[in-house]
Amino acid sequence: MATIYREGNLDLLTGKVAVIGYGSQGHAHALNLHDSGVEVEVGLREGSPSRAAAEEAGLRTASVADAVRGAQIVSLLLPDQVQPRVYAEQVAPHLEPGAALLFAHGFNVHYGRIAPPEGHDVIMVAPKGPGHIVRRLFEEGYGTPAIVAVAQDASGGAFDLALAYGAGIGAARAGMIETTFAEETETDLFGEQAVLCGGVTELIRAGFETLVEAGYQPEIAYYECLHELKLIVDLIWEGGLSGMRYSVSDTAEYGDLTRGPRVIDAHVRETMRALLDDIRSGAFAREWIAEMEAGEPNLDRLRREASQQLLEQVGPELRALMRREGAEAPTA
Ligand code: NAD
Ligand code: MG
Repeated sequence: MATIYREGNLDLLTGKVAVIGYGSQGHAHALNLHDSGVEVEVGLREGSPSRAAAEEAGLRTASVADAVRGAQIVSLLLPDQVQPRVYAEQVAPHLEPGAALLFAHGFNVHYGRIAPPEGHDVIMVAPKGPGHIVRRLFEEGYGTPAIVAVAQDASGGAFDLALAYGAGIGAARAGMIETTFAEETETDLFGEQAVLCGGVTELIRAGFETLVEAGYQPEIAYYECLHELKLIVDLIWEGGLSGMRYSVSDTAEYGDLTRGPRVIDAHVRETMRALLDDIRSGAFAREWIAEMEAGEPNLDRLRREASQQLLEQVGPELRALMRREGAEAPTA
């Protein structure tokens, strides 16, 4: 079993942390570190719409280059697509000797798109949750767990520095587990492809379309295959698979245990292994990098096609009926 770290030494954060980007993760890291008493400066591109929000929240802002200058830790919290260019043009030239570089996801370092020079710690603190939850739970006195890793230990204290940063963003409250850039990147890509995003969306769509093609009403199919999924996932999240099975009827449980393995059969597992092979060999990364460099034309097309599916046409109306007054919009 993994060692779970519940502490980090905030005293190691003696200098400025430059948080580059004020998006989902950026705003959460910056505000949580600031509330933990750490000196934070948010680095933003010129004309950034986030500047006002960061300043209203009481944070200091600067250009990316100015934030990097004098920083002990540079936290690169930009979309993964833009990181290599911003790193090369605005971060690397201004890095202080011995400054640490911190990532929230390992993709760019693991696949060699960013290769920091020797003499800099390269660390990762990847919260296992969306940035808005990282901020909300911190404000409520809890934390979001994180996985932490070291790709380059120039100081000899890179891991402790990562734990300190994790403590600063509240992750120590929920637990931090050591990983490697390879493990984080490969499992993250696999999870989103096979289970969390790709697997789930296609499972929903296949179920929905099977019912509709058999003549059932799309709205009924929507409730059954999409809406109720959240309720089931909440139970799984709270109590594991057995916790969910305890709550559903025996009929549902019998159907689950006897039919589930027929849906996710040996062929699906074989496909999952093939996806993992593509991730580990770098084939997926090469494909996605080429797509990014071409301006993401296929992603645009696939997005458009996906939004025209019947499932997406019946959803908005049904969801509007279910929305509670004053309820927060779901965060991504
Ligand atoms: P994001 O898409 O929310 O936005 C990051 C910020 O970068 C935005 O404020 C955007 O305006 C700014 N930005 C975009 N292009 C820029 C440029 N050229 N120069 C300067 N600023 C620019 O990003 P995110 O989802 O928070 O992701 C940041 C990192 O965190 C990524 O490495 C991601 O993999 C990782 N991560 C994200 C989540 C998540 O919850 N979204 C979870 C775990 C890890
Ligand atoms: Mg993930």
